Amino acid sequence: MSPFKTPDGKVLVTLIPGDGIGPECVNSAKKMIEATGAPLAWEERAAGESVFKQGIPSGVTPETIESIKKTRLVLKGPLGTPVGYGEKSANVTLRKLFETYGNIRPAREIPGVKTPYTGRGVDLIVVRENVEDLYAGIEHMQTPGVAQCLKLISRKGCEKIVRLGFEVARAEGRKTDHCATKANIMKCTEGTLKRAFEAIAPEYPDIESYHIIIDNCAHQLVKKPEQFDVIITTNMNGDIISDLSSALIGGLGFAPSANLGTDIAIFEAVHGSAPKYAGKNVINPTAVVFSAVMMLRYLGMFKEAATIENAVLFTLEEGKVMPRDVVGDEKAASTTGYTDAIIAAYGKKPSKVQLRDHKPIKMPDVSARPDFVVAKTRKVVGLDLFVEWASSVDELGKGMEAVLEGTPLKLKMVSSRGTKLYPTMGTITDTVDAFTCRILMRDADKDMTDEILAAIMQKMSGKFRWGHIEKLQIFDGKDGFTKAQGED
Ligand code: NAP
Repeated sequence: MSPFKTPDGKVLVTLIPGDGIGPECVNSAKKMIEATGAPLAWEERAAGESVFKQGIPSGVTPETIESIKKTRLVLKGPLGTPVGYGEKSANVTLRKLFETYGNIRPAREIPGVKTPYTGRGVDLIVVRENVEDLYAGIEHMQTPGVAQCLKLISRKGCEKIVRLGFEVARAEGRKTDHCATKANIMKCTEGTLKRAFEAIAPEYPDIESYHIIIDNCAHQLVKKPEQFDVIITTNMNGDIISDLSSALIGGLGFAPSANLGTDIAIFEAVHGSAPKYAGKNVINPTAVVFSAVMMLRYLGMFKEAATIENAVLFTLEEGKVMPRDVVGDEKAASTTGYTDAIIAAYGKKPSKVQLRDHKPIKMPDVSARPDFVVAKTRKVVGLDLFVEWASSVDELGKGMEAVLEGTPLKLKMVSSRGTKLYPTMGTITDTVDAFTCRILMRDADKDMTDEILAAIMQKMSGKFRWGHIEKLQIFDGKDGFTKAQGED
């Protein structure tokens, strides 16, 4: 990344104070950075609740977007996602608008912050894919009573996050990368990340690589978190295990993050705007401060980053000036008091913690071209037809078979919520009104052409209330779809 510089040679940062406790945390971080003498300048811009209230549904003003396009560097406070007005989360909008595809969330034991894990040496980083997966928020009601969320995961997106995960390990001198997925169940979507990980790992022979199933990863994180160095995972998994990881080291008050894209970076705490503490000068600003430390390292300002990080760790280890979430209301320093104590500790180092040697993260090369994955062979063997049906599955199956009689297609089975119900297997399954009819070519050697499909849909018209169809495709001899439970 080549930072945008002001005429006097300072790196310009878009500063978003945010909502609730955001401005207090951001002020603390800004003050600490300025006290190091780091050559940064600030361009303050708005996002979040105040912007939603102006009637801008994205929660981000055009001026903010312009500023970020120019600086490509953001330090931000949390943004509230209002319930009842506004549309999408402004945080997610920012991450997606600027394709910050990697969310880096370190969790490291902090001296003076006692947890059940103190002394175990927890020191890990969750590298979470940041723009795809269920978080794309592509949702539809299949029927008035059945909802669907599309989990779209691309090969390009997986390759980027995997390479970033290995580069993060290298930048911090770490030895192992785990890839945590649910590929055993979601073979297409989560499986894409696993396959990308296995294909790319040999490019990084200096780093050991392991795949782990995400539920076991959660279990192992609670049982033996010190075994992890870097965990690469999909968006939703990463959201959950990174919050879990932050709890291992003292909670959200200490959990920083970086959202990294090819040429843009947004630094923010993992926590939200905690509105009940807003304006009270009681909040722990460390998470935003550590996010600012990550920003300084990203810019190659390692000395200034170490000055702040060492002073924070020294202050917490010493235990005289402590934030509220560690020592409770009575003994706690104010946010500003804590900030000033840390600045006064510049030049000091904690005695029990050895800081890592950091190198700049080498962002993976990403082609700007779309990733057209060309299959050598492809075949359309049939379709899944998603139908709203308020009567028995037997009637649906028989009715569908009647419509398909004399056509090139036949009904293989009807399932509901992923379980085969027709022809019946005698299973006890609750039924709802959303069914999937799996329809295949009678002659398995022939392709289902669009003409065949159009003719079938014409025949269905008026007989079934269908919501959508999904073609069943085979790419390079491999099924591009999964089977329902009970399907042979
Ligand atoms: P939250 O703001 O993270 O607060 C939840 C609790 O975490 C707080 O009540 C407090 O616990 C603790 N906490 C949070 N920040 C802390 C800090 N700096 N120091 C010490 N403790 C801290 O979560 P929320 O209440 O669910 O969300 C509030 C709003 O923030 C929502 O509108 C949400 O959408 C938004 N949000 C924004 C972001 C973001 O901007 N990236 C992330 C998450 C949520 P105690 O009550 O135990 O003291």
